[in-house]
Amino acid sequence: MALTGIQILKMLPKKNCGECKIPTCLAFAMKVAAGQAEIGECPYVDDAVKETIGEASAPPIRTIKIGAGDSTFTSGGETCLFRHEKRFENPTGIGVLLTTAMDAAAVNSRLENFNKLQYERVGVLLKADLVAVKDAKNDAASFAGLVKTVLDKAPKAGLILISDSVANLAAAAKTCQDKKPLLYGATAANAKEMAALAQETACPLAVRGKNLDDAIAVAEGLLQAGVKDLVIDTGARTVRAALEDNVVARRSAIAKKYKPLGFPTLNFPCEMSDDPMLEAMISSVMIAKYAGIIILSDLQGDLLFPLLLERLNIFTDPQRPMVVEENIYPLNGPGADSPVIITCNFSLTYFIVSGEIEGSKVPSWLLIKDTEGLSVLTAWAAGKFGADLIAQFIKKNGIEEKINHRELLIPGYLASIKGELEEELPQWTITIGPREAGHIPAFLKEWKPAAKK
Ligand code: SF4
Repeated sequence: MALTGIQILKMLPKKNCGECKIPTCLAFAMKVAAGQAEIGECPYVDDAVKETIGEASAPPIRTIKIGAGDSTFTSGGETCLFRHEKRFENPTGIGVLLTTAMDAAAVNSRLENFNKLQYERVGVLLKADLVAVKDAKNDAASFAGLVKTVLDKAPKAGLILISDSVANLAAAAKTCQDKKPLLYGATAANAKEMAALAQETACPLAVRGKNLDDAIAVAEGLLQAGVKDLVIDTGARTVRAALEDNVVARRSAIAKKYKPLGFPTLNFPCEMSDDPMLEAMISSVMIAKYAGIIILSDLQGDLLFPLLLERLNIFTDPQRPMVVEENIYPLNGPGADSPVIITCNFSLTYFIVSGEIEGSKVPSWLLIKDTEGLSVLTAWAAGKFGADLIAQFIKKNGIEEKINHRELLIPGYLASIKGELEEELPQWTITIGPREAGHIPAFLKEWKPAAKK
């Protein structure tokens, strides 16, 4: 049962010293209860209190980390069943399968695609996260060799090591222990050895169940053995079974606080179909319904990109607009006589407008005004994109030193503030730009500073 802020406050030293970078103990307790601060940030709480509060405020789906440093992949940490209740925390990990039965060309093409297929959209880098290496021949040397190839050619990939042999897994894990690979997997038959290996290497461990009940039994045993960082594969290899298991696991963990299922799930669409298109469709179902990690048989741009976009949509916080920083953005190498265009900081607006300007090849200055992530008309209606605020922004942001004219292009939807803005900025000519971003290139190609027209 999660603790309330008041319950947490009772366990704090109440010095109100601010060393946790939050001014009061009450505010700190509220943030810990909301999952926005860690209890360890207060230097005055003892270990017993840390453990009590840490356990009670931990998310019902444990947060699991694979990898180390900048390339750490995080899964789990989920606290709700539906995104609109709060938000989903950590996007489904997308991995590609490599096996020791593949020839070098197949391995290399998958690793090349892993490194190459990266897309930037609304300021977010979209890419696959993990490489699953499978010991298909039960041969320690070829398994360790394939792991080394991945480390050399895709050093930023999170690793999943898959073998039926605990000894082979141990040998491979020791070659990349600092990368904290996910070890796959613990079964009823080898749980004791796998628990020992996970504890020795401090790596997360995947449960490999024959079905949901078997996975629960194995997870219970591992928890009793003191292994805390688990990922659950229920053994489902049809889309229906995997969907059912994912939903049961998430509901049990969130609604019933059922510990053996309080971990991210691992699905293998690569083993559910031989048809790449069907595999991608199954993957999209898994992303939509609670998969912590999915493993694909290959990475192809036309199938990966829609999955990455779906993942972006589902894991975007619905309560927090995506924003870009208030700033002056030079596009296409602008100079002193280049046009100056202003718009809001809703990231979708920014990326659409900047994309059109870049596509026009017209050197331009794009001014992005902080409107708290609201779009142009909404921001204007909410009083965050009015003439007074735009004028203040223009006066203080330094654009006047960069240009030899005084003409500002405003969005077509802000035509009604033209007169007011001219009063606020008497030195400036205000020109109403297009309403639709798609018309910006033609508009810019015709544009000349007002004085030169
Ligand atoms: S550091 Fe601890 S004692 Fe100080 S304000 Fe924060 S919670 Fe309170």
